Amino acid sequence: MNASPNAGLVPGLYIVATPIGNLSDLSPRAASILAQADLIAVEDSRVTAVLLRHVGTKRPMIAYHDHNADRVRPGLIERMGREAIALVSDAGTPLISDPGFKLVRDARAAGHTVTTIPGPCAAIAALTLAGLPTDRFFFLGFLPPKEKARADAIAEVAAVRATLILYESGPRLAATLATLANGLGDREAAVAREISKTYEECVTGTLSSLAARYADAPPRGEIVVIVAPPGEAPPPAEDDVDALLADAIGRLSTGQAASEVAKATGLPRRDLYARAMAMKGDAP
Ligand code: SAM
Repeated sequence: MNASPNAGLVPGLYIVATPIGNLSDLSPRAASILAQADLIAVEDSRVTAVLLRHVGTKRPMIAYHDHNADRVRPGLIERMGREAIALVSDAGTPLISDPGFKLVRDARAAGHTVTTIPGPCAAIAALTLAGLPTDRFFFLGFLPPKEKARADAIAEVAAVRATLILYESGPRLAATLATLANGLGDREAAVAREISKTYEECVTGTLSSLAARYADAPPRGEIVVIVAPPGEAPPPAEDDVDALLADAIGRLSTGQAASEVAKATGLPRRDLYARAMAMKGDAP
């Protein structure tokens, strides 16, 4: 006999976003799905037990985390054919720097219904606090722990014309901000901390000023770093353009020189050709 309170849930997988601090941020729909689920796949049952107590329910839980996911997943996929299985993480939206993508992939492959119950996500919440452009953003999750791999990951996104979002821990924050300033230039940034909790704050400034601020006082709690997109490159100074043209004219035909400098500076080739002719003392 199935003693489940699940009278209404279609069997399948339910991705349930949970609060990132303030339990009141759990949506009524999320609470209802959790209360009806036959089984909840959780990262840490102690954390989810607190949430279930808040909702006033008790449901069976199974651990699903990085260390056991491959072993547990086939059984969960099998049960989804006849039961409503909810997936939660300790906080926020499952799958976002948290386990779950392979569970969704395999649930889809098996033809099960997959439903998402959207809600809190630290990356998006921080983006709304930072006061930086939101039209295009690039989520980096956690940077690799090793120095060289971190610098490489940062170099990879230096040219991306989007606001960057990263998760970071307090002890590493200052070093990460300094590495970001090194790799990206000293852009505007924000450090959003303890969102939706008692000590929520969002501190803005340049990457180097934020690195200096946190160097001697690593902050406590959970942190998201937001970095502004690269600025428009300033137009090159006239003297610099003349120097590039003079060098190119010495090596190339006037037309080729104009093309080369146009490519390097982004200035119109026609203007550069005229300038090169003038520099050579010829009228265009
Ligand atoms: N899946 C989660 C989500 O949707 O936000 C993120 C999980 S990831 C393992 C945890 C990281 O998210 C933390 O280390 C921190 O960088 C960020 N985070 C989570 N809660 C936060 C909060 N209340 N304030 C700021 N950052 C938070």
